[in-house]
Amino acid sequence: MKRWAIEREVIEAINESARYSLPNEFLCLLRAEKGVVTELILLPGTISGESHGILDVNMAPISFGVVGSAHSHPGTCNRPSDADMGFFNSMGGIHIITCEPFNSKSWKAYNSSGEPIDVDLV
Ligand SMILES: [Zn+2]
Repeated sequence: MKRWAIEREVIEAINESARYSLPNEFLCLLRAEKGVVTELILLPGTISGESHGILDVNMAPISFGVVGSAHSHPGTCNRPSDADMGFFNSMGGIHIITCEPFNSKSWKAYNSSGEPIDVDLV
């Protein structure tokens, strides 16, 4: 099975954006090069709400290298919701969820089936 790696700066950027977005969710796409997630892609059509981030997939830039998504959960649960599961299934292979307090230990990575996966930090 493919094992993903992610740059530390990407996690930091997700957590920073998540903090800034409170009380709403933060949501973005992830771009990778050769299995290493290196970049966040912010979407103009993203609607953040207190209940759940809604991603307008039609607004997603058609760009090579999009491998998944990242979003935040206000609160301390970083497990995917039912809506998350459906979304994970519809795209990509790596999905990050971070929760409060949005630090290096509060995030988790999931595959498109919503199962937790181990990733390497680089
Ligand atoms: Zn969620």
